[in-house]
Amino acid sequence: MKILVINAGSSSLKYQLINMETETVVAKGTCERIGIKGGRLMHKANGKETVIEQELPNHTEAISLVLKELVDKDAGVIKSMDEIDAVGHRIVASGEAFTKTTLITEETLATLETVSELAPLHNPAAILGIKACQAVMPGKKMAFVFDTSFHATMPDYAHLYAIDYDDYKQYKVRRYGAHGTSHKFVSGAAAEYLGKDIKDLKIITCHLGNGSSISAVDGGKCIDTSMGFTPLAGVPMGTRSGDIDVAAIDFLCKKKGMTMDEGLNYLNKKCGMLGVSGISSDFRDLRAASEEGNYRATLALNMFTYACKKYVGSYMVALGGLDCVVFTAGVGENTPSIRKAILSNMETFGIVLDEEKNAQPNDGTVHEISAKESRVKVLVIPTNEELVIARETAALL
Ligand code: ADP
Repeated sequence: MKILVINAGSSSLKYQLINMETETVVAKGTCERIGIKGGRLMHKANGKETVIEQELPNHTEAISLVLKELVDKDAGVIKSMDEIDAVGHRIVASGEAFTKTTLITEETLATLETVSELAPLHNPAAILGIKACQAVMPGKKMAFVFDTSFHATMPDYAHLYAIDYDDYKQYKVRRYGAHGTSHKFVSGAAAEYLGKDIKDLKIITCHLGNGSSISAVDGGKCIDTSMGFTPLAGVPMGTRSGDIDVAAIDFLCKKKGMTMDEGLNYLNKKCGMLGVSGISSDFRDLRAASEEGNYRATLALNMFTYACKKYVGSYMVALGGLDCVVFTAGVGENTPSIRKAILSNMETFGIVLDEEKNAQPNDGTVHEISAKESRVKVLVIPTNEELVIARETAALL
């Protein structure tokens, strides 16, 4: 069985064709600059990368070009589109309309359109991707796989904000979380690595990248997560502020003459590591600057690791114990100093890192970095969100 995974943005479209028997990637790539001058496709298959410069006026043209490459009689990986059994579409926000992977029908697509305002940059783009696939692959089975589904198990007292309950009911303002497919993948992979049933494990998953979120997973079910109504909440990130007193933003808007929209744009794009350091949103740049003695770069990194530490501590208590901490994504997989700072001084709570193992570079496999005497296992696990989307789509079939 082969599943095509599509992650469509407003001007880009990423895809992977996955062979489900071996769970390996047959081909993958990205269409860039859709609807803007200078479109191109970067396609990788059979160990070769092809770059095609071609105007991509819309998502339908982009997906047509992808399919043309996949079935190309010389460089292609499949003979015809019939070899694609189904398509899984990554969807950022489901609101309360969906809590699990869902077959795409006219009706479910119409329902999804009603929650677009929850992710105005992402959901409408994903819907364009779906409609483009429907146009070029009529009748093909397709599924929505939501970033938010894994968090749908959070209990009411964890996902609700303390606002007027009637407003929650009417407007559905609550914590939804994000990165759910990643948290699901790494918590499952941790159980597999530990040789235990996930039902018997309490796990904290730290997805630390440009965007970061931390989740508490009890028996395979998410019970809390750091992102909120939108991905702005939680720990400070590359350019996002993370948690902040909302009264401070009203104050800042008035002082800087910003509208609420501008204030939100400021919190999403100009704060976090970039705002504090004044240097970069990229953790590699910050580490380099910090090693040269830059105070603001060091401060940004300290704020990040301290916030992560607080989430780990509070989730350990929320879970009522802890068996495993997992680090994943760009920063979590590749930055020993950040992992060390987050889990420092936690020996009392049964967490002891093995410094040598922690310093080893990421080799793309599951990597245990806790010391022998550590009661809590600490693992580095490369995330694979596309595989979760493909697995969920295959399971639905
Ligand atoms: P996104 O949220 O955009 O998916 P990523 O998970 O790719 O982000 O993480 C991006 C961050 O990860 C950057 O700040 C970068 O510094 C860091 N990063 C990515 N790869 C590496 C690497 N090989 N070594 C060190 N840091 C890395």
